[in-house]
Amino acid sequence: MVELLASGGTFEMVQACAEGGADAVYVGALGWSRRRREYEMDDETIKRSADFLHERGKKIRVAINTLPASDEVDLFRRKMEKFASFPIDDVILTDPGLMRIVKEEFPEIKVHASVGCTIVNLYDALLYKDAGASQVVTECRMPLDDIREIREKVGVGVEVLVHATTCYTFLGRCTMSSYTKFEHSPDETGKKHFRGSPNRGGLCYRICLTEWEVRQDGGEWEKSVVLPNTAYFIFDDIPALIEAGVTTLKIQGREYSPGLVGEMVSLYRRLIDECIERGKGVDIRPYREELERIQSRRDAERTEKTRSLIREATL
Ligand code: SF4
Repeated sequence: MVELLASGGTFEMVQACAEGGADAVYVGALGWSRRRREYEMDDETIKRSADFLHERGKKIRVAINTLPASDEVDLFRRKMEKFASFPIDDVILTDPGLMRIVKEEFPEIKVHASVGCTIVNLYDALLYKDAGASQVVTECRMPLDDIREIREKVGVGVEVLVHATTCYTFLGRCTMSSYTKFEHSPDETGKKHFRGSPNRGGLCYRICLTEWEVRQDGGEWEKSVVLPNTAYFIFDDIPALIEAGVTTLKIQGREYSPGLVGEMVSLYRRLIDECIERGKGVDIRPYREELERIQSRRDAERTEKTRSLIREATL
């Protein structure tokens, strides 16, 4: 049965996801998961979320999708020892070296290769399987036939983002924010935070969404160019994704309000359940109408967050 995975930036979001019908919720480890502190979780809240979800027969997946330097690897090991004792079910990683550590030292925890790994073909999936991943998140633009091929030939679970915002570059490969903040410092645990680098414990300031000036060939400046950064909701392809054997359908967005995320999860829960029951004959139109109302609230929340990040980038 396909799994519905949703995002828990806070404990209240975890509750909303569970109530909305998610089978699993992913949360981010504080300082290690590419988000503001308010949308990451300290160890105590991860334990509380794990207990809450397990009591309801649901799973918890923890994102540690930053790239550590050698002197941060022992900090990672200590985190994993703690998480294994809670226990957690899965860990989302980007770094192949860390995947190997989890595979060898914490075999009870499943490794999921993050969307930040940029898995764009069968051979990428094979590579991450060798590193220790039992599930891979495919790149957002991957065609259905490629998804099916990975599922059939690689022998790993396949996760597809049904709601996400695609970056101008591939997710996880952008370095634009690094140019806005050069400073870095360690936190109380010794983990380093490079403020403008999400890959190194800092933030994406969404500066692709500021207005850029672009020089044309003739030397003219074109003003007000905003790079594409589009959100999408996959609806019509859900029956085909289920039929292709996709393991997990994921709703991305750890910074939405609990009410909004709960409604998104509930919408996908009902749609997926109907697709499982009736296959390709499902009438998507009523779901689409409901989505339009949700989408305008989603856009308003994201625009507000984007403004505040861009303001912070220019401080
Ligand atoms: S700056 Fe834009 S393209 Fe780069 S990671 Fe952030 S949202 Fe994506």
